[in-house]
Amino acid sequence: MSETNTFSIRVEPTKHSRLSQVDFNNLKFGQAMSDHMLVANYENGAWTDVSIVPYGDLTVSPSMSALHYGQAIFEGIKGYKFEDGTVSIFRPDKNWERFNKSARRLQMPDVPEEIFIGGLKTLLDIDRNWVPSTEGTSLYIRPFMFGTEAALGVHPSASYKFVIITCPVGAYYSKPISLKVETYYTRAAEGGVGFSKNAGNYALSLYPTQLANEEGYDQIMWTDAAEHKYIEEAGTANLIFRIGDTIITPHGDTILHGVTRRTIIELAEKWGYKAEQRKVSVQELIEGIKSGAVSEAFAAGTAATVTHISKIGFEGQNYELPPIEGRDFSNKVLDYLNQLRYGKIEDPFGWNF
Ligand code: PMP
Repeated sequence: MSETNTFSIRVEPTKHSRLSQVDFNNLKFGQAMSDHMLVANYENGAWTDVSIVPYGDLTVSPSMSALHYGQAIFEGIKGYKFEDGTVSIFRPDKNWERFNKSARRLQMPDVPEEIFIGGLKTLLDIDRNWVPSTEGTSLYIRPFMFGTEAALGVHPSASYKFVIITCPVGAYYSKPISLKVETYYTRAAEGGVGFSKNAGNYALSLYPTQLANEEGYDQIMWTDAAEHKYIEEAGTANLIFRIGDTIITPHGDTILHGVTRRTIIELAEKWGYKAEQRKVSVQELIEGIKSGAVSEAFAAGTAATVTHISKIGFEGQNYELPPIEGRDFSNKVLDYLNQLRYGKIEDPFGWNF
Protein backbone atom coordinates (compact mmCIF):
# COMPACT_ATOMS: atom_id res chain seq x y z
CA MET A 1 0.00 0.00 0.00
CA SER A 2 2.68 2.46 0.95
CA GLU A 3 4.22 2.27 -2.55
CA THR A 4 1.25 4.10 -4.01
CA ASN A 5 0.90 6.52 -1.11
CA THR A 6 2.01 10.06 -1.54
CA PHE A 7 2.71 11.67 1.77
CA SER A 8 2.02 15.30 2.25
CA ILE A 9 4.36 16.81 4.80
CA ARG A 10 2.81 19.24 7.24
CA VAL A 11 5.19 22.03 8.19
CA GLU A 12 4.92 23.96 11.43
CA PRO A 13 7.77 26.49 11.47
CA THR A 14 9.30 27.54 14.76
CA LYS A 15 8.45 30.99 16.10
CA HIS A 16 11.69 31.11 18.11
CA SER A 17 14.71 30.18 16.03
CA ARG A 18 17.74 29.33 18.19
CA LEU A 19 20.17 29.86 15.33
CA SER A 20 21.60 33.13 16.68
CA GLN A 21 22.45 31.47 20.02
CA VAL A 22 24.77 28.91 18.45
CA ASP A 23 28.51 29.53 18.41
CA PHE A 24 29.44 27.99 15.07
CA ASN A 25 33.12 28.33 15.87
CA ASN A 26 32.84 26.14 18.93
CA LEU A 27 30.49 23.26 18.15
CA LYS A 28 30.41 20.26 20.46
CA PHE A 29 29.23 17.10 18.70
CA GLY A 30 25.53 16.38 19.10
CA GLN A 31 24.63 19.26 21.40
CA ALA A 32 23.22 22.17 19.40
CA MET A 33 20.18 20.75 17.61
CA SER A 34 18.73 22.51 14.57
CA ASP A 35 15.39 24.32 14.83
CA HIS A 36 13.19 21.62 13.30
CA MET A 37 12.70 17.87 13.31
CA LEU A 38 10.70 15.50 11.16
CA VAL A 39 8.27 13.18 12.93
CA ALA A 40 6.11 10.46 11.34
CA ASN A 41 3.88 7.93 13.05
CA TYR A 42 3.15 4.35 12.07
CA GLU A 43 -0.27 3.16 13.15
CA ASN A 44 -2.66 0.45 11.96
CA GLY A 45 -0.16 -0.71 9.36
CA ALA A 46 0.43 2.65 7.69
CA TRP A 47 2.59 5.76 8.00
CA THR A 48 0.63 8.90 8.89
CA ASP A 49 1.10 12.47 10.19
CA VAL A 50 4.39 13.20 8.49
CA SER A 51 5.27 16.57 10.01
CA ILE A 52 8.12 18.98 10.36
CA VAL A 53 7.81 20.66 13.73
CA PRO A 54 9.99 22.74 16.07
CA TYR A 55 12.67 20.57 17.73
CA GLY A 56 11.47 19.62 21.19
CA ASP A 57 10.63 16.86 23.63
CA LEU A 58 8.52 13.87 22.61
CA THR A 59 5.88 12.51 24.95
CA VAL A 60 6.07 8.76 25.43
CA SER A 61 4.46 6.19 27.70
CA PRO A 62 6.51 4.50 30.47
CA SER A 63 5.25 1.19 29.09
CA MET A 64 6.48 2.08 25.57
CA SER A 65 7.92 -1.06 24.01
CA ALA A 66 11.25 0.39 22.83
CA LEU A 67 12.22 1.19 26.42
CA HIS A 68 11.70 -2.41 27.52
CA TYR A 69 12.43 -4.62 24.52
CA GLY A 70 14.74 -2.50 22.43
CA GLN A 71 13.04 -2.03 19.08
CA ALA A 72 15.14 1.03 18.29
CA ILE A 73 17.29 1.71 15.23
CA PHE A 74 19.11 4.73 13.81
CA GLU A 75 21.34 6.10 11.07
CA GLY A 76 24.11 8.69 10.82
CA ILE A 77 24.50 10.82 7.69
CA LYS A 78 26.30 14.08 6.90
CA GLY A 79 25.28 17.11 4.86
CA TYR A 80 27.76 19.67 3.54
CA LYS A 81 27.55 23.21 2.23
CA PHE A 82 29.28 24.09 -1.05
CA GLU A 83 30.88 27.48 -1.61
CA ASP A 84 27.87 28.57 -3.71
CA GLY A 85 25.48 27.73 -0.84
CA THR A 86 24.23 24.40 -2.26
CA VAL A 87 23.49 21.89 0.50
CA SER A 88 24.54 18.36 -0.40
CA ILE A 89 23.97 15.09 1.46
CA PHE A 90 26.48 12.26 1.02
CA ARG A 91 24.89 9.02 -0.30
CA PRO A 92 21.70 9.09 1.82
CA ASP A 93 20.18 6.36 -0.37
CA LYS A 94 22.66 3.90 1.14
CA ASN A 95 21.63 4.90 4.68
CA TRP A 96 17.97 4.51 3.73
CA GLU A 97 18.62 0.98 2.44
CA ARG A 98 20.58 0.07 5.56
CA PHE A 99 17.90 1.56 7.80
CA ASN A 100 15.25 -0.69 6.30
CA LYS A 101 17.57 -3.71 6.59
CA SER A 102 17.91 -2.91 10.29
CA ALA A 103 14.14 -2.45 10.54
CA ARG A 104 13.35 -5.86 9.03
CA ARG A 105 15.77 -7.67 11.33
CA LEU A 106 14.07 -6.09 14.37
CA GLN A 107 10.58 -6.78 13.03
CA MET A 108 9.86 -3.09 12.42
CA PRO A 109 8.16 -1.55 9.37
CA ASP A 110 10.09 -0.16 6.38
CA VAL A 111 10.22 3.60 6.10
CA PRO A 112 9.33 4.63 2.52
CA GLU A 113 11.83 6.61 0.46
CA GLU A 114 9.39 9.51 0.28
CA ILE A 115 9.52 9.91 4.04
CA PHE A 116 13.20 9.11 4.65
CA ILE A 117 14.79 10.89 1.68
CA GLY A 118 11.91 13.20 0.72
CA GLY A 119 11.33 14.20 4.33
CA LEU A 120 15.03 14.84 4.85
CA LYS A 121 15.12 17.08 1.79
CA THR A 122 12.19 19.15 3.07
CA LEU A 123 13.72 19.33 6.54
CA LEU A 124 17.06 20.57 5.19
CA ASP A 125 15.32 23.13 2.99
CA ILE A 126 13.82 24.62 6.13
CA ASP A 127 16.95 24.35 8.26
CA ARG A 128 19.50 25.11 5.53
CA ASN A 129 20.99 27.96 7.58
CA TRP A 130 22.00 25.38 10.17
CA VAL A 131 24.39 23.72 7.73
CA PRO A 132 27.74 25.28 8.64
CA SER A 133 29.95 26.48 5.83
CA THR A 134 33.48 26.75 7.14
CA GLU A 135 36.02 24.18 6.05
CA GLY A 136 35.63 20.74 7.59
CA THR A 137 32.24 21.43 9.19
CA SER A 138 29.01 19.62 8.35
CA LEU A 139 25.46 18.95 9.42
CA TYR A 140 25.09 15.64 11.22
CA ILE A 141 21.77 13.98 10.40
CA ARG A 142 20.26 11.41 12.74
CA PRO A 143 17.20 9.48 11.49
CA PHE A 144 15.81 6.99 14.03
CA MET A 145 12.77 4.81 14.67
CA PHE A 146 11.42 3.14 17.79
CA GLY A 147 8.45 1.08 18.94
CA THR A 148 5.88 3.21 20.75
CA GLU A 149 3.15 0.76 21.72
CA ALA A 150 2.17 1.38 25.34
CA ALA A 151 1.93 -2.22 26.55
CA LEU A 152 4.27 -4.67 28.23
CA GLY A 153 4.80 -8.14 26.78
CA VAL A 154 7.43 -9.22 24.26
CA HIS A 155 5.94 -8.82 20.80
CA PRO A 156 6.51 -6.45 17.87
CA SER A 157 5.22 -3.00 18.73
CA ALA A 158 1.96 -2.11 17.00
CA SER A 159 3.05 1.50 16.53
CA TYR A 160 6.30 3.33 15.75
CA LYS A 161 7.74 6.80 15.48
CA PHE A 162 10.23 7.76 12.80
CA VAL A 163 12.14 10.95 13.58
CA ILE A 164 14.94 12.93 11.95
CA ILE A 165 16.95 15.42 14.00
CA THR A 166 20.03 17.29 12.80
CA CYS A 167 22.88 19.27 14.36
CA PRO A 168 25.81 21.28 13.01
CA VAL A 169 29.18 19.72 13.81
CA GLY A 170 32.60 21.28 13.82
CA ALA A 171 35.66 20.44 11.77
CA TYR A 172 36.65 16.98 12.83
CA TYR A 173 40.29 16.11 12.35
CA SER A 174 40.75 12.90 14.22
CA LYS A 175 43.99 12.02 15.93
CA PRO A 176 45.43 8.55 15.19
CA ILE A 177 43.96 5.97 17.54
CA SER A 178 45.17 2.88 19.36
CA LEU A 179 43.07 -0.30 19.33
CA LYS A 180 42.94 -3.28 21.64
CA VAL A 181 42.16 -6.61 19.98
CA GLU A 182 39.27 -7.92 22.08
CA THR A 183 39.60 -11.62 22.81
CA TYR A 184 36.86 -12.09 25.41
CA TYR A 185 33.87 -9.77 24.91
CA THR A 186 31.79 -10.07 21.75
CA ARG A 187 29.92 -7.46 19.74
CA ALA A 188 28.00 -9.75 17.39
CA ALA A 189 27.58 -13.42 16.53
CA GLU A 190 26.54 -15.19 13.33
CA GLY A 191 22.78 -15.07 13.05
CA GLY A 192 22.61 -12.08 15.40
CA VAL A 193 22.09 -8.38 14.76
CA GLY A 194 25.64 -7.17 14.07
CA PHE A 195 24.77 -5.86 10.59
CA SER A 196 21.92 -3.73 11.88
CA LYS A 197 22.28 -0.29 13.39
CA ASN A 198 20.20 -0.89 16.49
CA ALA A 199 20.61 0.85 19.82
CA GLY A 200 21.52 -2.33 21.71
CA ASN A 201 24.69 -2.83 19.66
CA TYR A 202 26.01 0.40 21.14
CA ALA A 203 24.90 -0.25 24.73
CA LEU A 204 26.76 -3.57 24.77
CA SER A 205 29.99 -1.96 23.59
CA LEU A 206 30.24 0.53 26.46
CA TYR A 207 31.56 -1.68 29.24
CA PRO A 208 34.28 -3.52 27.23
CA THR A 209 35.30 -0.16 25.72
CA GLN A 210 35.66 1.32 29.20
CA LEU A 211 37.96 -1.57 30.14
CA ALA A 212 40.05 -0.99 27.01
CA ASN A 213 40.24 2.74 27.84
CA GLU A 214 41.50 1.89 31.32
CA GLU A 215 44.28 -0.13 29.69
CA GLY A 216 45.20 2.95 27.64
CA TYR A 217 43.56 2.11 24.31
CA ASP A 218 41.12 4.40 22.49
CA GLN A 219 38.86 1.72 21.08
CA ILE A 220 38.28 -1.98 20.74
CA MET A 221 39.02 -4.04 17.68
CA TRP A 222 36.19 -6.56 17.81
CA THR A 223 36.80 -10.15 16.78
CA ASP A 224 34.43 -12.99 15.88
CA ALA A 225 32.26 -14.48 18.60
CA ALA A 226 33.13 -18.14 17.99
CA GLU A 227 36.94 -18.08 18.21
CA HIS A 228 38.08 -14.45 18.56
CA LYS A 229 40.43 -15.12 15.65
CA TYR A 230 39.02 -12.92 12.90
CA ILE A 231 38.87 -9.13 12.88
CA GLU A 232 35.49 -7.45 12.62
CA GLU A 233 35.29 -3.66 13.21
CA ALA A 234 36.14 -0.95 15.72
CA GLY A 235 33.98 1.31 17.85
CA THR A 236 31.70 3.07 15.40
CA ALA A 237 33.75 2.45 12.30
CA ASN A 238 34.82 -0.28 9.90
CA LEU A 239 38.44 -1.35 9.51
CA ILE A 240 40.49 -1.17 6.35
CA PHE A 241 44.07 -2.40 5.89
CA ARG A 242 46.63 -2.14 3.16
CA ILE A 243 48.54 -5.38 3.08
CA GLY A 244 51.16 -5.54 0.33
CA ASP A 245 49.41 -3.80 -2.55
CA THR A 246 45.90 -4.85 -1.64
CA ILE A 247 43.23 -2.86 0.18
CA ILE A 248 41.40 -5.28 2.48
CA THR A 249 38.36 -4.94 4.70
CA PRO A 250 36.68 -7.59 6.86
CA HIS A 251 33.34 -8.82 5.59
CA GLY A 252 30.29 -10.70 6.85
CA ASP A 253 26.92 -10.32 8.55
CA THR A 254 28.38 -9.67 11.97
CA ILE A 255 29.64 -6.20 11.02
CA LEU A 256 27.82 -3.03 10.10
CA HIS A 257 28.29 -2.42 6.39
CA GLY A 258 29.45 1.17 6.43
CA VAL A 259 28.74 3.65 3.68
CA THR A 260 32.28 5.04 4.10
CA ARG A 261 33.82 1.55 3.83
CA ARG A 262 31.87 0.86 0.65
CA THR A 263 32.82 4.26 -0.76
CA ILE A 264 36.52 3.64 -0.07
CA ILE A 265 36.46 0.17 -1.64
CA GLU A 266 34.78 1.65 -4.74
CA LEU A 267 37.46 4.36 -4.87
CA ALA A 268 40.27 1.81 -4.45
CA GLU A 269 38.92 -0.19 -7.39
CA LYS A 270 38.52 2.91 -9.53
CA TRP A 271 42.09 3.96 -8.75
CA GLY A 272 43.41 0.57 -9.83
CA TYR A 273 44.16 -0.98 -6.45
CA LYS A 274 43.29 -4.58 -5.78
CA ALA A 275 40.48 -4.51 -3.20
CA GLU A 276 39.19 -7.44 -1.18
CA GLN A 277 36.29 -7.90 1.22
CA ARG A 278 37.13 -11.02 3.15
CA LYS A 279 38.00 -12.52 6.49
CA VAL A 280 41.18 -11.09 8.02
CA SER A 281 42.66 -13.02 10.92
CA VAL A 282 44.35 -11.36 13.86
CA GLN A 283 47.37 -13.50 13.04
CA GLU A 284 47.54 -12.23 9.45
CA LEU A 285 47.43 -8.66 10.76
CA ILE A 286 50.05 -9.11 13.49
CA GLU A 287 52.41 -11.07 11.23
CA GLY A 288 51.91 -8.40 8.55
CA ILE A 289 52.78 -5.60 10.95
CA LYS A 290 55.90 -7.47 12.06
CA SER A 291 57.07 -8.15 8.49
CA GLY A 292 56.20 -4.67 7.23
CA ALA A 293 53.54 -5.98 4.82
CA VAL A 294 50.84 -3.95 6.57
CA SER A 295 51.61 -0.40 5.47
CA GLU A 296 48.29 1.24 6.35
CA ALA A 297 45.49 0.60 8.84
CA PHE A 298 42.53 2.88 9.47
CA ALA A 299 38.99 3.08 10.72
CA ALA A 300 36.37 4.29 8.22
CA GLY A 301 33.08 5.90 9.21
CA THR A 302 30.82 8.90 8.74
CA ALA A 303 32.20 10.72 11.82
CA ALA A 304 35.79 11.25 10.68
CA THR A 305 35.90 9.50 7.27
CA VAL A 306 39.41 8.11 7.91
CA THR A 307 40.97 7.67 11.35
CA HIS A 308 44.51 6.36 11.17
CA ILE A 309 45.49 3.56 13.54
CA SER A 310 48.80 4.11 15.27
CA LYS A 311 49.06 1.07 17.53
CA ILE A 312 47.38 -2.30 18.06
CA GLY A 313 47.46 -4.18 21.35
CA PHE A 314 47.08 -7.96 21.32
CA GLU A 315 47.55 -10.30 24.28
CA GLY A 316 49.55 -7.74 26.24
CA GLN A 317 51.91 -6.82 23.36
CA ASN A 318 51.76 -3.55 21.41
CA TYR A 319 52.37 -3.41 17.69
CA GLU A 320 53.20 -0.02 16.14
CA LEU A 321 52.08 0.87 12.63
CA PRO A 322 54.12 2.87 10.10
CA PRO A 323 54.15 6.72 10.24
CA ILE A 324 51.01 8.50 9.02
CA GLU A 325 52.87 10.65 6.45
CA GLY A 326 53.75 7.64 4.33
CA ARG A 327 50.23 6.28 4.12
CA ASP A 328 49.46 7.33 0.53
CA PHE A 329 46.22 5.44 0.05
CA SER A 330 44.33 6.58 3.15
CA ASN A 331 45.65 10.14 2.88
CA LYS A 332 44.57 10.28 -0.77
CA VAL A 333 41.09 8.97 0.16
CA LEU A 334 40.68 11.61 2.84
CA ASP A 335 41.80 14.41 0.56
CA TYR A 336 39.61 13.23 -2.33
CA LEU A 337 36.45 12.82 -0.24
CA ASN A 338 36.98 16.17 1.46
CA GLN A 339 37.05 17.87 -1.92
CA LEU A 340 34.18 15.86 -3.40
CA ARG A 341 31.78 16.44 -0.52
CA TYR A 342 32.28 20.20 -0.55
CA GLY A 343 31.67 20.31 -4.30
CA LYS A 344 35.24 21.35 -5.10
CA ILE A 345 35.75 18.64 -7.72
CA GLU A 346 33.56 16.73 -10.18
CA ASP A 347 31.36 13.99 -8.71
CA PRO A 348 31.76 11.17 -11.23
CA PHE A 349 29.91 8.68 -9.00
CA GLY A 350 26.81 10.77 -8.29
CA TRP A 351 27.44 10.48 -4.53
CA ASN A 352 26.35 14.03 -3.69
CA PHE A 353 22.57 14.28 -3.30
N1 PMP B 1 30.43 0.21 12.30
C1 PMP B 1 29.66 0.70 13.29
C2 PMP B 1 29.36 -0.17 14.46
C3 PMP B 1 29.15 2.00 13.20
O1 PMP B 1 28.39 2.51 14.18
C4 PMP B 1 29.46 2.80 12.08
C5 PMP B 1 28.94 4.21 11.96
N2 PMP B 1 27.68 4.23 11.35
C6 PMP B 1 30.26 2.24 11.06
C7 PMP B 1 30.74 0.93 11.21
C8 PMP B 1 30.60 3.02 9.82
O2 PMP B 1 29.48 3.18 9.01
P1 PMP B 1 29.31 4.45 8.08
O3 PMP B 1 30.50 4.50 7.20
O4 PMP B 1 28.06 4.19 7.33
O5 PMP B 1 29.22 5.63 8.98
